[in-house]
Amino acid sequence: MVLKLETSLIRDWNGYKGRPFLISGPCSAETEEQVMETAWALAKIPQVSIFRAGIWKPRTRPDSFEGVGVAGLKWLARVKKETGLLTATEVANEKHVYEALKHGVDMLWIGARTSVNPFTVQEIADALRGADVMVFIKNPINPDVELWIGAIERVAKAGIRRMAAVHRGFSSYEKTTYRNQPNWQIPIELRRRIPDLPIICDPSHISGNREYIHEISQKALDLNFDGLMIESHINPSAALSDASQQLTPEDLKELLLRLILRSPSTSDQKLLDILGELRQQIDVYDDHLIDLLEQRMKVAEKIGMYKKENNITILQSARWDEIVKRAMIRGKSKGLSEELIDNLFKAVHQESINRQMKVMNNGITNHNGSEGK
Ligand code: PEP
Ligand code: MN
Repeated sequence: MVLKLETSLIRDWNGYKGRPFLISGPCSAETEEQVMETAWALAKIPQVSIFRAGIWKPRTRPDSFEGVGVAGLKWLARVKKETGLLTATEVANEKHVYEALKHGVDMLWIGARTSVNPFTVQEIADALRGADVMVFIKNPINPDVELWIGAIERVAKAGIRRMAAVHRGFSSYEKTTYRNQPNWQIPIELRRRIPDLPIICDPSHISGNREYIHEISQKALDLNFDGLMIESHINPSAALSDASQQLTPEDLKELLLRLILRSPSTSDQKLLDILGELRQQIDVYDDHLIDLLEQRMKVAEKIGMYKKENNITILQSARWDEIVKRAMIRGKSKGLSEELIDNLFKAVHQESINRQMKVMNNGITNHNGSEGK
């Protein structure tokens, strides 16, 4: 499906106040004072273009604070009127959409627990039909780029043109440093699939901890994301939701000073020549890699034929452990990260298994590496 989007949404839009494009505000609107005090402090930060606050909060457990509801929309209207900041809130069903539009909220975002559900996204898209509002779509909680694209398409099909995606990381069972796994390759794939769609990074929900917000923000900017959504609260430790990841507006200001803004391209001919030459070298090495993989797979197929003829299983765990161990040691001595070796060898191993499966099940018996039928 070809999406009709306003690609100028962020950089050329008159609400845009400068790099990085920034959406900030509390996880949840809690009281009118908290909302107004936070908004006034953020209004003094030049990059903040949109004030966010959750009115209806999707919470994991039923006894948590679930948002102040419709009453908070009046506070957002006050923020807009008094500070001039545009406003944003999360919508998770059609009633939320009607209420938010009625109160003049400028941007609605679809949260990670909603974008995962096509029925709910469709209900929201139907409620949005004909509305002149910005809609930002967070990635689904599971790492599925198709589901994310599906949600974007549903909203685009409802006639919304001013859209952006928000990368907020992905749930996983393993406990790791971050609350949600960034899986950067997924937003990168989204960029490849829909180049005109701006992508905003939400380092607050990726990190779950204010300590890591700077490093994630920097990475997003270095990957040429279009902006950031960072949670802020006038008194984070007293926040009713996501207390450990919110920044004070003062801390946000300080974080912005430390961010390095790199430019996505250059017109410096000398630099372009150097980069061009280095890129040629990369292309040569990539060709080598592909040729080597081809040779490796041919050997794997031969092994598959012997396994077939001698009736032994494809998966040989001890051999696999040995391969990984060898590769890790050699990779380390060459300065390659464990992550690279692990990902690379998992992919290579999977391909070898697929090839051997084919050999076993398709009756390939010749030993010269070519496929028989
Ligand atoms: C939020 O932005 O406060 C929120 C609930 O986000 P997510 O849907 O990414 O969890
Ligand atoms: Mn939050």
